[in-house]
Amino acid sequence: MASQEIEALSAALARLPGLGPRSARRAVLWLVKRRETALGQLLQALTAVQDTLVECHVCGNVDTRDPCGICADPRRDARQLCVVEDVADLWALDRAKLFTGRYHVLGGRLSALEGIRPEDLSIGRLIERVAQGGIDEVVLAMNATLEGQTTAHYLAERLEAYPVRITQLAHGLPVGGELDYLDEGTLAQALRARRPVG
Ligand SMILES: [Zn+2]
Repeated sequence: MASQEIEALSAALARLPGLGPRSARRAVLWLVKRRETALGQLLQALTAVQDTLVECHVCGNVDTRDPCGICADPRRDARQLCVVEDVADLWALDRAKLFTGRYHVLGGRLSALEGIRPEDLSIGRLIERVAQGGIDEVVLAMNATLEGQTTAHYLAERLEAYPVRITQLAHGLPVGGELDYLDEGTLAQALRARRPVG
């Protein structure tokens, strides 16, 4: 039986996605054996992130500065805006390195079942960004789920009034596919083959 502190660390790690109690205990054992090296590094990295973590007020990305690294990067094409449901989707798309524009994170998807309405998402802020002008194309990169597609249709309607091209990720996406779980090649293909909405 481990001490209370070690049990608490195991329990905290076991809550991470992809880890269960058994993997968490193995990770803890691995860390305590490397107290001076790996444990110290992990602690430093966690503290540094905790101290500096902010949500970008422009796009909703999570980074250690505001505006985030993507919004602040002058090499990014401000005329292209890719709308995603969650930060995880932004990171997945950005890992694929094919989209050179900027992003907008909705903070979820419309869901009648969960009672998530347009005003619960960052849609007003998206409309504001588009209304400000300077954007040629809005890529709706919702997940290939029913709720994701409902959200995409809703956004396409709201954006119709503005002089922007509205496109959607190609239907090559597996139905029910969550962007975060797709390999980079599939994502890249969906992005390359994006098509106009409607
Ligand atoms: Zn940003």
